[in-house]
Amino acid sequence: MHSLTAFGFAHIAIIAIGALLLVLSTFFTRPWPYAEWVKAAFWILGVAGVTWATIRFVLLFGDSSLSRQMHHFLYVTQLVLLGIAFGILALFFVSGEAVRGIRRWRELKEQDRVIYDLPPKLSELRLICARSHNRRVLLLTAILCIVLVAGLLSTHTRDGLIAVVALAGAVEIIGFVVVIRRAKQQSVELGFACPICHGALYDGRANRLRFRGECPQCKRFVIDLLAQMSSNQALERTAGRCDD
Ligand SMILES: [Zn+2]
Repeated sequence: MHSLTAFGFAHIAIIAIGALLLVLSTFFTRPWPYAEWVKAAFWILGVAGVTWATIRFVLLFGDSSLSRQMHHFLYVTQLVLLGIAFGILALFFVSGEAVRGIRRWRELKEQDRVIYDLPPKLSELRLICARSHNRRVLLLTAILCIVLVAGLLSTHTRDGLIAVVALAGAVEIIGFVVVIRRAKQQSVELGFACPICHGALYDGRANRLRFRGECPQCKRFVIDLLAQMSSNQALERTAGRCDD
């Protein structure tokens, strides 16, 4: 009985929180990517969801103190509210607005971003760095999984469990430091390096060079300098060919 009550409470809470999040999203998502009617629909859904949760809560915990008619009335009301909430959610998806909104939201994000294009040679180097880095992250993840699984299988005590989690944490932190260092080292070795500070231009997904045109190490604007250097190199190459 006790676990059933806890389970019942958890699923009421999840639905109430979900409904509230949808309502809050109408205030905090700017710009609003969905059609205007979706806002009103989410508010109705929010009210229906929270009222539904309150009634379910009363039915679950205050059952003995309710009269038969009251119980029946609340039971029917919560069913109607649940129907309204699901109806609105279904409309949101069936109308295609859910998918359209996500597409619009993505387009808006893309527009905000200034993107600096790298000279082709450098963008090739970046790709090499990114691929090796991804391989190393995958390897680290695999090692971490092995440590966790082997550790959890070989221990049956609480202290053993804590030791396994601590060990996995240490492996993860040290592993990440090594992986990031190796990525920077490779970037410099390949020549994907800052012309000013000679630090690594590769910085993973942050990609400061592409989004800000800056070196991730010394934070100076280097994209123009890089473009100039690569066009000079191209000129030298053509000049060399003419001399032959
Ligand atoms: Zn630099």
